[in-house]
This record gives sequence, C-alpha cells and structure tokens, in this order.
Amino acid sequence: MLGYFRKWRERRILQRHPILEPAWQYALARCGPARRLPATAQARLRVLATLFLRDKSLEPVQGLELTDDMRTLLAAQACLPIFNLGLTWYAGWHSFVIYPGLFAPNRQTVDAAGVVHHHRSVMAGESWQRGPVILSWESILQAGSPPGHNVAIHECAHKLDMLNGEANGFPPLHMGMDMARWTQVFHAAYAQLQSLHSAGEPLPINVYALENPAEFFAVASEAFFEIPAELQAALPEVYRQLCLFYRQDPLNH
Ligand SMILES: [Zn+2]
Repeated sequence: MLGYFRKWRERRILQRHPILEPAWQYALARCGPARRLPATAQARLRVLATLFLRDKSLEPVQGLELTDDMRTLLAAQACLPIFNLGLTWYAGWHSFVIYPGLFAPNRQTVDAAGVVHHHRSVMAGESWQRGPVILSWESILQAGSPPGHNVAIHECAHKLDMLNGEANGFPPLHMGMDMARWTQVFHAAYAQLQSLHSAGEPLPINVYALENPAEFFAVASEAFFEIPAELQAALPEVYRQLCLFYRQDPLNH
C-alpha cells in the first residue's frame, strides 16, 4: 500500500511540476556527467531531479534569485550520486542554502581552556550533520572547472558519509560490500597520494583530498563523476569501490 501511495505521489509530481525542456537543456549544458549519460539514463535523471525539487527546499540568501534553470542545474548535479540509490539516501534533512558567491560564515568555538575563538574562512560549500547543505551558486556554475571539481557532488557525498555518524570517509556500505576492503583500498590510496604530494608530484585529484579521510571520500566522489576515466587510471581500486557504493559505473552507463 505504501509503495502504491509513493508511486501515485511521484506520478502526480511529474505531471504537475515537470522540469521543462529549456531548464533541462540549461542544466545538461552545464553538467558534464549528466550530458554524457545515454538518453534513457538522462530521462531517468530528469525524473529523479523533478522529485528532488519537490522534496528539498532550495533557499537563496544574500539577494540571490533562483530561476528554474538554476534550480534544475543544482538538482541534476545533486542527483548524480543518488542516481541508483534513490532519494531516501538524502532523507533526514531538508534544505540547500545557496549564497551568490563564496561565503564566510562567522563561527565560534570554545577550546579546552574555555577560550572562545571566532573563525571566518571563505567556503564554496559546507554540509551540516542533520542540517542543510550550503553552497555558493558561483561554485555550482563552475562545476568541471578545473576538471574534476564539483562542489555540489562534494557536499552531497559528505551527506551520504554522515548517514552512519560523523563524516569519516566511511559511508554505510551495501550488503555484500567488504568493509575491510573499503578501508584497505582508501588507506592505500591515501598513502599513495601523500607520497606523490611530498615528492612534489601533481595529484590525479584535488589536493584537498589529503585534508582527512572524509575529504578524500568527497573529493574522490567528485572525480568519480566528473573525470571517471582519469580516476580509474590513477586509482583503479578506489574507482571500483565507488562503483560498488554508488551502484553505477560512469564509464559504462
Ligand atoms: Zn568537504
């Protein structure tokens, strides 16, 4: 019965609030991974993006105005990681807060000595445990430039990682996936990137991956969708684990 109700609700959303062709074309033109999908997969992504836009609240701040084109582009990017997982993987939180450009939230932390520190660092995106995803429109628009970068995918990967607690690069794996193998593969790749970096060599993915295991997972996820061939060539085992986790292979859709 529940399944029937869900299907009925989805059909109604698709009929009443479809993504119109110009908005979809706008999104495809600016989202390489979606543009490279075969037509049938693109149609499925469009359905998922339509449901996503009814499910999530997109909240522009600082005078930004969001058009249907802009909303559709964010939806297309954010739906790539859950393309074969489904919207329930984004359950438990509701909104995307969108700044026009990079943002510098004023944060306050209290250290062990009771001293309050104020932080202001410039960010392109941020994910809160059980809270919103915060993004800059400018960064959403710059997806793929430089190659491999995609801030929406990055923040959504953190959200998936947080489904089983703090973001730590260890999202809830599917039945049949080997947890020990996941840890081993990511540790080995992390060490490999660290030694490349220490040797002054260029890295195959954004150096921000070396911040910590959570950032490694998020940055590798960006590369997985944006530059899959490069990621597969440089870190084949990481690529394989991400195929298993995301239940898709961007090189063989
Ligand atoms: Zn991050």
